[in-house]
Amino acid sequence: MNQAGTRRFRAYTSKHLDDLLQRAGLGDEERLKVRAVATVLPFRTNAYVVDELIDWSAAPDDPIYRLVFPQEDMLPAADVARLADLLKAEAPNAEIQAEANRVRAQLNPHPAGQMELNVPRIGVEPVPGMQHKYPETVLFFPKQGQTCHAYCTYCFRWAQFVGDADLKFASDDIGQLVRYLHEHPEVTSVLITGGDAMIMGEPVIRRYIEPLLGVEQLESIRIGTKALAYWPQRFTTDPDADATLELFEQVTESGKNLAFMAHFTHPRELESPLVESAVQRILGSGATIRTQAPMIRSINDDAALWSGMWRRQLRMGMIPYYMFVERDTGPQDYFAVPLARAYEIFRDAYSTISGLCRTVRGPSMSATPGKVCVDGVAEIAGEKVFVLHFIQARDPALVGRPFFARYDPSAVWLTDLRPAFADRFPFEPTGEAALLTA
Ligand SMILES: *Cc1c(COP(=O)(O)O)cnc(C)c1O
Repeated sequence: MNQAGTRRFRAYTSKHLDDLLQRAGLGDEERLKVRAVATVLPFRTNAYVVDELIDWSAAPDDPIYRLVFPQEDMLPAADVARLADLLKAEAPNAEIQAEANRVRAQLNPHPAGQMELNVPRIGVEPVPGMQHKYPETVLFFPKQGQTCHAYCTYCFRWAQFVGDADLKFASDDIGQLVRYLHEHPEVTSVLITGGDAMIMGEPVIRRYIEPLLGVEQLESIRIGTKALAYWPQRFTTDPDADATLELFEQVTESGKNLAFMAHFTHPRELESPLVESAVQRILGSGATIRTQAPMIRSINDDAALWSGMWRRQLRMGMIPYYMFVERDTGPQDYFAVPLARAYEIFRDAYSTISGLCRTVRGPSMSATPGKVCVDGVAEIAGEKVFVLHFIQARDPALVGRPFFARYDPSAVWLTDLRPAFADRFPFEPTGEAALLTA
């Protein structure tokens, strides 16, 4: 086993940022600006990402470098300059934090109504740490799972990671989830997410998973994770790797699907032999691995990259699942790929892969009313339009029914679109209901 396989996990945080930026060859002023961005957006990485994934000879343009390191132009220049001045003047931390919070508030920290909508209730009591948006699926955010082995610069949950209590929601009460599931027999799938569920040690994750095994109606337990990309040792050489795999086996032997929802952004994340053995071990437990990632400008906005990634995943025994559109939060302007372009990249990649890889769906926007897939661009009755459909919807009656939006080459999100051949989208209230709720 090489060194990377035997070292214990240790996070690199903003304390280590300046040293790492020097390694990327950034000068004093550039490093100061990046540190200014890192007062607003969370930074965290680790030795595996730094030593095994990043191509330092290509930094700061290397895609994996861009995936984890803040860039100075991710935020408005005036904000960066003001924060850089505060850092340079060694201003009190409280002052820097106040300014950082002001900038954060401009970045739509809670996309898709994360705080207000989807809050499940037992009786009238809201249940913290859960979201129930689609009838059959509940999301659960375990308290100890609210971080990751490394942060992605584009993460839509960035607001949870910046240490502001208002922006956090999580639960350590699995009993509450179990009670909720007994009251809601329509729920067949629990998705443990965060953060990264696999940041939790085996005894902790066991406390969350074991009580779910007794919930008869549950068909699947899903684990949202990027650990296979950022810390594959979690499943191979970490001290609790074997115990974790035994827990997975216990789930599959109980007659439920343990679905690993693995986040892979770039094919390089699949190259290490450690990943290969981690994947084999997980599959050996009877779990399935489905893969998903958003399309990010300058990191993976390329058709050959996606088809290569899906093919490699297939060979390794994983199932391509979703290609997402970058959400409307954080440095979205920096990373957004227009819907028209994302669709072309998806189509070009999809058209070259075998049917076994065509389990993937996208490009998909996880928006307030549901998951909207861009099926294509068509000309209908002389008008150029986007053809769309809901893969998932808050209102299940909307699923699988095509609808149309006026073509707009610069639109990057559902909220940029306007209906075509209709005066409202199917997910918008009708004229009468709109008047009643106005
Ligand atoms: C994608 C998603 C789910 C899971 O949906 P599936 O289509 O079943 O994978 C659940 N909740 C939210 C908020 C989602 O975006």
